[in-house]
Amino acid sequence: MTTTTGSTYWCELAWLGGESAESGVVVEVEDERIAGVEAGAAAPPTGAVRLDGLTLPGFANAHSHAFHRALRGRTQRGGGSFWSWRERMYELAARLDPETYFRLARATYAEMALAGITAVGEFHYVHHGPGGEPYADPNETGKAMIAAAREAGIRITLLDACYLHGGIGEPLNEAQRRFSDGDAEAWATRAEALAEAPGSRIGAAIHSVRAVDPDSCATVAAWAAAGERPLHAHVSEQPAENEACLAAHGATPTGVLERAGALGPRFVAVHATHLSEADITGLGDSGCCCCLCPTTERDLADGIGPARALAEAGATLALGSDSQAVIDLFEEARAVELDERLASGERGRHDPVSLLRATTRDGHACLGWPRTGSIEPGATADLVSIGLDGVRLAGATPDSVLDAAVFAATSADVERVICGGREIVRDGAHVGLDVARELRDSIAEVLG
Ligand SMILES: [Zn+2]
Repeated sequence: MTTTTGSTYWCELAWLGGESAESGVVVEVEDERIAGVEAGAAAPPTGAVRLDGLTLPGFANAHSHAFHRALRGRTQRGGGSFWSWRERMYELAARLDPETYFRLARATYAEMALAGITAVGEFHYVHHGPGGEPYADPNETGKAMIAAAREAGIRITLLDACYLHGGIGEPLNEAQRRFSDGDAEAWATRAEALAEAPGSRIGAAIHSVRAVDPDSCATVAAWAAAGERPLHAHVSEQPAENEACLAAHGATPTGVLERAGALGPRFVAVHATHLSEADITGLGDSGCCCCLCPTTERDLADGIGPARALAEAGATLALGSDSQAVIDLFEEARAVELDERLASGERGRHDPVSLLRATTRDGHACLGWPRTGSIEPGATADLVSIGLDGVRLAGATPDSVLDAAVFAATSADVERVICGGREIVRDGAHVGLDVARELRDSIAEVLG
C-alpha cells in the first residue's frame, strides 16, 4: 500500500455535503484524517495530488456476505424463489474452509475497493467447521474476514451473527450446524473474544427471528448494548418470515426485536421489505437505520421495501451489496429511488443527495464509524474519484454531476480510492492485488 501521510489533494469537483458539487477543492490530509478543506482553488497548489473528475467520500457497504460472491451467475436458471436460492447458498457454505474463505473474501473486498467502498459490514455466520465442530480458534473464520479486509485495504465491521435455529421452532439442518454456537450465551462468549484493531470493529447480529428465538434476541441485544456496538438483523425479507413469526409469537419480526430491546440508534434492520405501519413507526421513532440491498432484493424476488416511508418516519438509510449479485453502490443507490418509482408511479421520492448520504455518511455510521463518509475537517480521509471522461458521465457540469453520478455512474467509473489516507486504487486498478485473477482463482478453489 502507498502511504500518503501528510498529502494535499486538489479535486476538480468534490461533493462536500451540499446540493451540488464544489469546484477546485483542496483537501489536506494528515495521517488518516482530513485536516482542512477549501473550495475555489482554480489550479492545484504546488505538490498537490490532482484528482480529476468528481470526488466523493468513501462508500460504506453496510451489508455483505463475502462468500456469496461465488454464486454470481450460478443461480439464474431454473426458476425458484428466495428459499430455493438459499439451498444453493447452503451448498456453497458447506464447502468453505478458513483458507478458501479468506481468499474468496479478500478478492471480494478488493472488488469492493475498486467500486469505491472503503468500509464493509460483514454479516458473518459461517463460524464453525462442518457439522458445527469449532476450529482450534473458535473465531478463526471471523478473524479471516478481518485479515481479508485489511489485505484489500478497506475497513471492516465484523457483524458476528448469532444463529441458533433452522426456522421458528425448527432444528438446524446439516448445513446450518456450522452457523450455531448452541445458545446465545455461548455466542456471546465467543464474540467477546474478538478484539478490535485499527481498521476493524466488532458488532453484533441477530441473524433473523427465524434463526434466533426471542429470549436469545434479548441476550444478543444486551451484549451489543453493553459494548455500545452496532446491532444488525435481517428483518422481514420475505412474507413467509412474517407469517411464521406472527403465528409463533403474536408479533411481527420488528415487534419481536422491539420487545427484545434491540431497537434504537445502534440498530440496523437489513432489508425491512415487508413491514406493517406499526413496524415503520417503531423503526423510525427509535432512530434505527434500515439497510436496503436492492440488487439482491430484486435478484431474490424479495420485493420493494418502504424506504421513503421509513425515512419520513425518522429512520436513516444505508445500502448493502448483500449477496454480491453485483458490487456497485451507484446501482444500489439509484435502485432505492427507481424501484419505488415503478411501484408508486411517482418520481423524486428520494433526492440524489439523500441517496449519496445513505451511500456514505449514514452507511459508515451504522457500521460504528463516526466522522467517516464526509469530506470535512476531522473526518477520516476516504476519497473516491470518479472519472467524467467516459461515455456515461461525459457532458456533466458542476450543477448536474451529482445527479449524473447517482443515476448513471457505475463501479467502472471509479478511478482512484483513498482509504484512511492510503491509496488503495489508482487508475481504476487495485494497488496490491490482481483482483480479477484473485476472484477467478478463489472461486474455482471453493467450487472445486
Ligand atoms: Zn444478508
